[in-house]
Parts: sequence; structure tokens; C-alpha cells
Amino acid sequence: MNIAGFVKTSFVDYPGKIASVVFTQGCNLGCGYCHNFGLIEKKEASTGIQPEEIIEFLAKRKGMIDAVVVSGGEPTLQKNLHVFIEELKAMSLLVKLDTNGTNPDSLRSLLEDKLLDFIAMDLKAPLSKYESITGTSPSELLSIRESVEVIMNSGLEHEFRTTFCPELEADDILSIILDFKIASNYVVQSCRSTDRNKLFRNEQDLKKLTWWSEKNLPFSFRGFEVCGAEQFII
Ligand code: SF4
Repeated sequence: MNIAGFVKTSFVDYPGKIASVVFTQGCNLGCGYCHNFGLIEKKEASTGIQPEEIIEFLAKRKGMIDAVVVSGGEPTLQKNLHVFIEELKAMSLLVKLDTNGTNPDSLRSLLEDKLLDFIAMDLKAPLSKYESITGTSPSELLSIRESVEVIMNSGLEHEFRTTFCPELEADDILSIILDFKIASNYVVQSCRSTDRNKLFRNEQDLKKLTWWSEKNLPFSFRGFEVCGAEQFII
């Protein structure tokens, strides 16, 4: 495990639970809006926190931390992810995995061994824009579609989520719902962009999205006060 960051206590990363958050180093995508840009580069040697340090911390906080969120970067790129999560589960902790969905085999393996309690998967764009926004190859896109099915059929608590980056328009959210056959558990979240012109265009789109959500399309909003557009959110 190459761990680049560790948040000891979070009240927002695992719904309803007090969680610690582990950020793994390295990602196979290259989203232009990535908030964790420093975590994209893959590094062989661990330069940051050792997994043993985290296990030790959690053992000392037994009963005070409910869950661990394994995020990134892309956690499924980590060779020892399975073993690390086994150690967390052995401590009776809930485990949530944040993933970009490019590794359905890893998801299947973790699910088979009952090592996950919650999965949050990013749906970055409609199929037609995935490559331009994230740099995904056609085979990675196939894997992403496979992961959506794996998660939907898992019976596990889960969430699909889209960061409403400046490259997306309101109609793209409809396309994502249709492309990936999303019927529930879908969140559209704000993007931290510094480009005011692009954010303004997004605010127009948000009006549209708010209207659609009133018409019972299957998505909810998160964090749009960052874009200064909270007035459009119910
Ligand atoms: S998948 Fe996540 S970590 Fe990877 S580049 Fe995209 S936003 Fe950044």
C-alpha cells in the first residue's frame, strides 16, 4: 500500500458514521478537474504513511471510530489493498471504498470475501464524453460499465456520483442516468473550479437540474454552495 494521506476523523465521508480516511497514491485516470492532483502520479515506493501506523492508530481508537474510507487516487491499483482491508475488518470496522470503477475484478474479489460495507463509484461523464474528460481508454470504459453492474448487483450500500465539472452540461446528467441505467443512489456534486465564466454556465445548468429533480429524476445534489449556487438547490 502506498498511502499519501490520512484523515484521522471525518464526519462527512461515511454516511452517518465517524470515519478515518485513507488516501492512496496513484490513479490511472487524468480528470482535468482532479481535486487530488498530487495523488495521480503512481509511485512504486511508499513515501508516506505506513499501513501499520494506521492500524496502530485505529487500534488505540477502538470504539471511537466506526469506519474507514479507502479513497485515492484509485485504491484498487494498490497491490496490498485486499490484505489491508482484511486487517480493518478484523478490527470490526466498517469499510467504504471510493473508486473510479476501472477495476471490476478487484471489486468482485473484495465483495466475495465480504470485505466492503459501502462502495462509492464515480461516474465521470456520459459515455460519449468519458475519454475527453478523464483520458479513459475504450477497455477502461468497458471495465467502468462492468463495475456499475457489479455494484448494482452486490446488494451492498452504494452510491454513484458525478462531479459537475465545467466540461459537463445539464443534459449530460440525463445521459449518464440513461447510459448507466441509474435508478437510485445517484448524487451530483459540486466542482471546485476557479474559472468564474465556466461556473456561471454551470449555474444556468443547475437551474435545469433543479427543475428535473422536482420532476423526480433519480439524483440528489451535494455541496453546491462551493459554486455559489445554493440558491438553486432545494
Ligand atoms: S479518478 Fe479521481 S483521483 Fe483519479 S484523476 Fe480522476 S478525480 Fe483524480
